[in-house]
Amino acid sequence: MKDLKLTPIKNGTVIDHIEAGMAMKVIKILGIPEPDSHSIISIAMYVHSEKMGYKDLIKIEDRELKKKEVNKISLISPNASIVIIEKEIVKNKYWVSLPKIIKGLAKCSNPNCITNKGEPLETEFSVTNGKDIKLRCLYCDRNVTDVLESIV
Ligand SMILES: [Zn+2]
Repeated sequence: MKDLKLTPIKNGTVIDHIEAGMAMKVIKILGIPEPDSHSIISIAMYVHSEKMGYKDLIKIEDRELKKKEVNKISLISPNASIVIIEKEIVKNKYWVSLPKIIKGLAKCSNPNCITNKGEPLETEFSVTNGKDIKLRCLYCDRNVTDVLESIV
């Protein structure tokens, strides 16, 4: 699988430089496969990379990611890059960046938190990057125990 090159796509998004082994998690948080969507998804895992050793990459045809989705990706793969392709031409390319605060992207793991009490509140977390990414609830001050599981 080392030198696998995926066929180029005409229109859509390439998520590149995903930490090796994380592609399926990225797919999960993007809610893929989506009902009523027939965009073709290609996944390559453990692709050799000069920069990273190994990386994963995902190609999603005919779909541009929303800002919210890019932020979700940054939470589990903070070094990923996004390439938007339109008519076979790279329209935009950028690195994801970890937001300092995320709103409405995760749920608090504290069952007694006000955000879990059915109030019309949007969750808010501060994000810190270290060895692992940490999310701290701004309502109850608790750290989220499992970032991947908490993403909504
Ligand atoms: Zn909370």
